[in-house]
Amino acid sequence: MSVFRTPAAIFGSATAASRAEAELAADHPHLLKNYNRAPITIARGEGCELVDENGVRYLDFVAGIAVCALGHAHPDITRAIATQAGTLVQASNLFYHEPSGTLANELAERSGFERVFFCNSGTEANEAAIKLARKHAFRRGEARRTILSCEGSFHGRTLGALAATATRAYQEGFEPLPGGFAYTPFNDIAALETALDETVAAFIVEPVQGESGVKPATQEFLAAARRLCDERGALLVFDEIQCGMGRLGTLFAFESYGVRPDVVTMAKALANGLPIGAVLIDAAAASVLQPGDHGTTFGGSPVPCAAALEHLHVRDRLGLDAHVKRVASRLLGHLQALAERYPGEVAQPRGRGLMLGLPVRAPYVTKTFVDTAREHERLLINGAGDNTLRLVPPLIVSEAEVDDAMERLERTVRLVARR
Ligand code: PLP
Repeated sequence: MSVFRTPAAIFGSATAASRAEAELAADHPHLLKNYNRAPITIARGEGCELVDENGVRYLDFVAGIAVCALGHAHPDITRAIATQAGTLVQASNLFYHEPSGTLANELAERSGFERVFFCNSGTEANEAAIKLARKHAFRRGEARRTILSCEGSFHGRTLGALAATATRAYQEGFEPLPGGFAYTPFNDIAALETALDETVAAFIVEPVQGESGVKPATQEFLAAARRLCDERGALLVFDEIQCGMGRLGTLFAFESYGVRPDVVTMAKALANGLPIGAVLIDAAAASVLQPGDHGTTFGGSPVPCAAALEHLHVRDRLGLDAHVKRVASRLLGHLQALAERYPGEVAQPRGRGLMLGLPVRAPYVTKTFVDTAREHERLLINGAGDNTLRLVPPLIVSEAEVDDAMERLERTVRLVARR
């Protein structure tokens, strides 16, 4: 028998749960306190809405942090998961199975990249890319080992990906971090010219930085990175974990920039909510990792692969890229108008596609807007770095839902401003 009791069971009738009780619900006695959870309990999801245990519906512009591209409980994804779960859940990587092979084919065909490595998360995808870059240099008999990344970047929480995450707050207290990492300012071509020297095995960059507050790379910066990597013999790695899988209005973020990297890391939205990561590797580095060099027990297991495969098919059927471009420009327009109407509270938005950030002006802080939006307007948004509200709704969000969300956000801003 499960010893876990729902907050409703602990505190009595869910409808009678007071705010204090709800806050306690977020402070579970046995879950590690490494997250700041909001004081609500999510019971289920439906399209662009999440529903709490009291039946309260929230318009979800977080989407599992840029994960649920097709929204919650999409029937085709649910069916694909159920069918695969009833067929084969795990076979190990000692054996080939069709879901991973078919998904690799689809990703290779759509990207033009040659090989795909599957893992379970974004940080693992970046770890694999880091190892690949070092082995690539090693196999060529080169001494270069440095992984260069950008200030403000976020590449994950495992030690290698954390060492590439050039944001002090994430690293502090976890030293010593692995050596061989260097950092360069984001969108600064002159600095990159100097930093990307012959010691660099790979330059890893997010086309749109997410955690630092939704900051797009300039096309010129990524094009310069491509040129410099070619000239100096380093691999160019795009971390598309947050900005890929259609979020910018193209399946891959690199397509939206017209700059082709050597390696792409993916995760988050790939399986629309099931844990999966992937590394796409271009021909030049496709044979670097050999049997025994790298691996994972669960990576590429059948159920997430089946979900990812279905995701690709559903997005084709929906013509999602054109839809994203349309609703994204509507959302951006609303945010620009909001910034004009409330210049004391928020600044002009940043971002690309359906990955948008609305900077909050000091002395206001994002938490006030996030909490007010949730409590008063049933709108879910979250705060990213640089005091910025991040809006990453499901990519299936309708124009009516965008309008609705922006009305709720405007009332939120008005409420915060009045206090
Ligand atoms: N890279 C980027 C750009 C991310 O946004 C994230 C997560 O937010 C990661 C890597 C790490 O992914 P995961 O949390 O799946 O390990």
